[in-house]
Amino acid sequence: MMMRAPLLSLAVLLVGCGQGADAGRVPRHDGAFDLGRLAQPDGQSGPAAGAPDGGPDRDSTIDRGSSPDQAAEIGASPDLAADMPIGPDLAADTGAAVDLATDAVARGDLAGGDAASGGADDGGCTLADNIPVDRLPVTDFHAYHNQLQIEDYLQAVASALPSMAQYKVLGQSAQGRDLPYLIINATCQASPLAVFTNGTHHGDEPSSTEAVLAIPDYLLRKSTSDASVRSLLETYAFFVLPLVNPDGFALNTRENADGLDINRDYSYPLRSDADSFKTVEARLVKSLQESVGFHAAIAYHSGAQEVLWPWCYTGDATADAGFFTAAGQKTAQAMDFVIFQQSYDDYPTQGEYIDFAYWRSHTLAATFEVSTAKAPSAASLAGVVDSACQGMVAWVQAVSDHDRGSLHALPVMATARRRFPLTAPFDGTNRLE
Ligand SMILES: [Zn+2]
Repeated sequence: MMMRAPLLSLAVLLVGCGQGADAGRVPRHDGAFDLGRLAQPDGQSGPAAGAPDGGPDRDSTIDRGSSPDQAAEIGASPDLAADMPIGPDLAADTGAAVDLATDAVARGDLAGGDAASGGADDGGCTLADNIPVDRLPVTDFHAYHNQLQIEDYLQAVASALPSMAQYKVLGQSAQGRDLPYLIINATCQASPLAVFTNGTHHGDEPSSTEAVLAIPDYLLRKSTSDASVRSLLETYAFFVLPLVNPDGFALNTRENADGLDINRDYSYPLRSDADSFKTVEARLVKSLQESVGFHAAIAYHSGAQEVLWPWCYTGDATADAGFFTAAGQKTAQAMDFVIFQQSYDDYPTQGEYIDFAYWRSHTLAATFEVSTAKAPSAASLAGVVDSACQGMVAWVQAVSDHDRGSLHALPVMATARRRFPLTAPFDGTNRLE
């Protein structure tokens, strides 16, 4: 049976647990967020200007390396900045102003003025049964997309399905580029459980970007033919953030524009918030994480083919290691990968997103390393993306099964420590994914 708590107050969501390594025993937070409580700012949703038909032609080969001129141009968005629900400074301190409201969803409106929906939380609403996929913009993954194409595409999805998809901007990077994201909520719930998918913590791992960008199309189209995918869409809201590190993406660098590794910048049980979050990008993700309190999450990377889970900073197992092992196995099978393990057993790291999310919000978070090459050939990209989407569905399905009590946990040590035994710890330099 699905457990769904009443609407959570933002104040509760913002309380850090601070129990250190005991975080796994913190009473479960269900990851629901409240669409109705949070204000809708002006100008951050609705149809994208200039992209009514799905944005620009995406068939052309993409120049991923934005020029300095382009960077300056993208950064110079004073109007947008003025309207942003949060700026970098605010995000660092409050994390409270992230706008999650999807007015149309909260009202239960359907696209095109249909009146079939009875409204949010009415128990009889089946939006995911009625997704007009023929309205979706056409996209493909035979070439890499650049930032502007990513923004256009996400905006076009929101424009096509305004009742269940909303385009947002989380904030701006160090160089002023937007961090665009999409909320897909086909649950007809005002406070559904939420799943967070993010890519491009590392700017030189563009297949992770594409893997996340593919999620809306995959989920929405698959829902028409796959009852299990439809059920997931009826149960969870999906937050899709392809570009955590848009500056590194434009510059083709692992780090952000200040030379900092965003995925080593989160707090974890041995490092405080005050000693973390040096990057504006990690602060933005933190604000979203704490505002929503995601039930599950996947952080996409590339440079290997693996499914990894917390902890990264210690070889100690989490309280959910049985779940993680079973979910990791099912996900690896779906992706045709052979390696699924606690992230520490890949190599030890400090300050990764998944440790922060699990520690702070009890998010059932995983890292997917989606391709051996960080930037596989364009010809192989579609296959990588499809595999990554199948893995996403497998992970969320495992979460759903876990919620329903039907996931059979696996012994924790079944796959552990196959690469870097404690006697030969990763030296921090010879392999970074
Ligand atoms: Zn990475």
